[in-house]
Amino acid sequence: MTTTAVPTTAARIGAQPHVVVIGAGIAGLTASLRLRRAGARVTQVTKGLGGLQLSQGTIDILGYTPDRVSRPLDAIDDYAAAHPAHPYAKIGADAVRQGVRFLKEIAGDEFLVGDGEENVNLPTAVGAVRPTALIPPSMTAGVLHDGLKVVIIGIAQLKDFHPMLIAQNLERTVLPDGGRVQARAVMTDFEPRPNEFDASGLTFARALDDPKTRRTFAEGLKGFVNEGEAVGLPAVLGLDDHQAALAEISSILGAPVFEISSLPPCVPGMRLNEKLVTTVKKERVEFILGSKVVGRTAADGRIASVTVGVAGHKREIPCDAVILAAGGFESAALRLDSHGTVHDTVLDLPVKLPEGIDADHLTHGDYWGDPQPLFEVGVEVDSSMKVVKDGVPVFDNVYAAGGVLAGATRWQDKTGEGIALGSAVKAADAVLAALPVAAPAAQTAERN
Ligand SMILES: Cc1cc2nc3c(=O)[nH]c(=O)nc-3n(C[C@H](O)[C@H](O)[C@H](O)COP(=O)(O)OP(=O)(O)OC[C@H]3O[C@@H](n4cnc5c(N)ncnc54)[C@H](O)[C@@H]3O)c2cc1C
Repeated sequence: MTTTAVPTTAARIGAQPHVVVIGAGIAGLTASLRLRRAGARVTQVTKGLGGLQLSQGTIDILGYTPDRVSRPLDAIDDYAAAHPAHPYAKIGADAVRQGVRFLKEIAGDEFLVGDGEENVNLPTAVGAVRPTALIPPSMTAGVLHDGLKVVIIGIAQLKDFHPMLIAQNLERTVLPDGGRVQARAVMTDFEPRPNEFDASGLTFARALDDPKTRRTFAEGLKGFVNEGEAVGLPAVLGLDDHQAALAEISSILGAPVFEISSLPPCVPGMRLNEKLVTTVKKERVEFILGSKVVGRTAADGRIASVTVGVAGHKREIPCDAVILAAGGFESAALRLDSHGTVHDTVLDLPVKLPEGIDADHLTHGDYWGDPQPLFEVGVEVDSSMKVVKDGVPVFDNVYAAGGVLAGATRWQDKTGEGIALGSAVKAADAVLAALPVAAPAAQTAERN
C-alpha cells in the first residue's frame, strides 16, 4: 500500500514567518500581497481604509522636481541625488519600477494604464494640467494633447464639479509641449435618487451601476456632443459595474468619454482600493479592519508583538517582523503635540526632523510660501526600509513603507504613490530575505 503525507495548507502556513503589516493604504496593501505571494503568513491590521479613496485614482511617481517631469522613473535617481533626505534616495528607481510592475500584476490593465515610464497630462477639477504616471482606462480619452476638442459636462445636482471653470481654464492653458486644447462646457440635470438634494459622487456612481439609469443619463446627454469632441464627465461612471457603464455611455454618445476626478470621496480611487482589498482577502492575508495598533512589546532588540486596541480591550499579535505602513499626519499615524513634538502614534518609533530644522521651526507663517518643514517629518529608514535612528536599527525586525517615511512633501513633488510602491516592495523583500519562507514540505511517500 502507498500513502502520501501532504501537509495541510494551514499547517504549512503556520510554520511560515508571521509578518504584521500595519495600515491598508497603497503601501500596506502592496506589502501584504508581496509577502503573501512569496508564501509568508501575513496579518494586516488597520484602523480604517487608506488614502486611495481620497486620491485621484491615478499613480504619481514624480511630477515636479520642481520642473515638470516627463519621464518619472528615469528622473528618480537624479532627483534623489539632489535631495538626499528624500525617501527616493533610499528606495531608488529600480524598486519603484518593481513596485509599479507588481501593482500592475495585481490590478491589471483593467484598472491602470501605463508603465510609469512616461507622465501624461490630465485635467484637474479646476482645469489645471496635472502630470501623472499611471491612470485608470476611464481617463485615457482625457489625456491632454494639442488639437484635442472636449466638451465638459457637469451635473447641476453634483456640487463639487464645475464644468465652466474646467473648460475656461483648459482653453486658456498652453500645454507643457506647447499645444492647445479646445474646450467648452455644458451643465445638465440628473437626479441620481429621487428627492436627494445633496448627493455625493458616490451616490451618482452607485446610481450609474444600474443599466437602466445610465442609459437614461446617456440619452439625456446626446444632444450636447459635437462631432469630433471627447466628453469629459465627473468621475462617477459606476462603482462596481464601471467598465460596462463607461462602455455603454460612450457607445450611446458615439464619442470617447473620460472621467475627471473631483473632491473626495474619489470614485476611481475607491475602485482601485476595492480591487486591492478584495485581492488581499482572496489571497488569505488575515485582514483585520477597524482595529488600531496602540503599541508593541519588545525583547532582545526585536518587536515580539503588536498591541491592538479592540472593543475596549487590548490584544497582542505575536510577530516575526512588522511593516509599518500607517501613513503620515493625514492618517494620524504621526501627531504634533501641544509642546511642538512629533510622535509616531503607532509603535512609538523615533521620528526624524528635516536637516537643520529644530522642533520650534516645523511650521512657518508664510502659508503660500515654501512647504512647511513639518510635512517632511517621519520615520527614518535604511536602504532596506528598516527603521533606524541616526543610521542604527531601532529594532532588528521593524520596517516602514509609504507616507510614514521622512523626507518628502508628497503632494507637492507628486511622489506619494511611487514612494509607497517602491518602499513596500523593498520592505517586503527585505523581510523575506531576513526570514526566508520555507518551500512547501516535500511530499513523503511511504511504501509498504
Ligand atoms: C489630501 C491629500 C492629497 C494628496 N495628493 C497627492 C498627490 O497629488 N500626489 C501624490 O503623489 N501624493 C499625494 N498625497 C499623498 C499620498 O496620498 C500618500 O503618500 C499615500 O496615500 C500614502 O499611502 P500610505 O499607504 O503610506 O498611507 P495611507 O493611504 O494614509 O494609509 C494609512 C493606513 O494606515 C492606517 N492606520 C493609521 N494609523 C493606524 C494605527 N494606529 N493602527 C492601524 N492602522 C492605522 C489607516 O487607517 C490607513 O489604512 C496626498 C495626500 C493627501 C492627504
